Amino acid sequence: MTTSHEALPVNLLGMPRAGLEALFAQWGERPFRAVQIMKWLHHRGVDDFAVMTDLSRVLRARLAAETVVRMPEVVHEHVSADGTRKWLMDLEDGQRIEVVFIPEKDRGTLCVSSQVGCALDCSFCATGKQGFNRNLTAAEIVGQVRQAARRLEGVITDRERAITNIVLMGMGEPLLNYDAVVAAMDVLLDDLGYGISKRRLTLSTAGIAPAIRKLADVTDVALAISLHAPDDALRDQLVPVNRRYPIAELLDAVKVYLQRLGDWRAVTIEYTLIDGVNDSIEQAEALAVLLEELRERSKINLIPFNPFPGSGYRRPSESRVRAFQTHLLERGYATMLRTTRGDDIDAACGQLAGNFEDRTRRRERYIARLKDHGVITHQAV
Ligand code: SAH
Repeated sequence: MTTSHEALPVNLLGMPRAGLEALFAQWGERPFRAVQIMKWLHHRGVDDFAVMTDLSRVLRARLAAETVVRMPEVVHEHVSADGTRKWLMDLEDGQRIEVVFIPEKDRGTLCVSSQVGCALDCSFCATGKQGFNRNLTAAEIVGQVRQAARRLEGVITDRERAITNIVLMGMGEPLLNYDAVVAAMDVLLDDLGYGISKRRLTLSTAGIAPAIRKLADVTDVALAISLHAPDDALRDQLVPVNRRYPIAELLDAVKVYLQRLGDWRAVTIEYTLIDGVNDSIEQAEALAVLLEELRERSKINLIPFNPFPGSGYRRPSESRVRAFQTHLLERGYATMLRTTRGDDIDAACGQLAGNFEDRTRRRERYIARLKDHGVITHQAV
């Protein structure tokens, strides 16, 4: 299901500690070298092996010959009136992705991308409109965080407000790039990497049910489900992958993941409110009924639709949004309203489009592969 674009030589930024240890073992080096090199790469942000003087000269030479340290380069930085920053980053093959940093009072959230474009084509999402181009490598996912941290040095000096939270809510569907995303999360969670706590690292998915079950075997990071509709008929329209994994199957997979989270942690249910489409009180009630079994174990996150040119949808009025939220609160659901940040720079949810053209043939090949694997059906694309 995943493709590797990791060209040789290997990019060390995407290698989890265990992978580095295996590499060094193969080279006849002590496993402890992994600890040293990770500190250089991720804590000190050093790119040049020559500087890593606690490694032997021989090892430094071999690293320089057989590995690289490369991260996406910033081509544009937009700073919003509210302090949100959006970076357009260039990848080695000229593809572009967007990364957003959202500073808040007591934390800083980085929204990273997992693919260039997206194949799922959710009807209200700007990324989907651009089509799918390719998966990111683990190094490119970690590289977004490393590059963002470098850009924020000296800008955000307060530790509390630097990158404390990471959400895989940028471009792409993380669970359709499973291996690279799992490897990247490993580095982000590792104390020798970025030391992000599992409660502050969120994977957001449109609902690839089998991949959610699989994920439960390897990690317990926070999970967000992009639900957006209380019934299959509507969800089929908004999130076409629902035709492959309908709501009941998705919620079954969520229950498996909840077991992994233990008794106290909840999943986030994301619901983008679109005027006249999914924002009526009847639909709020249908959602309450649908989620009944999960009530104690979920937090509902309402996101008023962020418009983009040609979407054909509108954001509901504030009173409609409030009424929807109030209904869910009255039905006993923890329901948050996500305030839109950075919309003056098109950095809000679902507005990340990057600046790339769809290499249509690649998209077709990728979609054909997903079909081969039964991940999406014809109608879904
Ligand atoms: N593919 C993943 C992650 C990317 S989208 C997923 O579907 O979860 C991150 C969140 O933004 C999702 O909940 C998505 O549905 C929402 N979103 C997309 N477009 C939006 C828009 N125009 N307005 C508001 N939210 C949007």
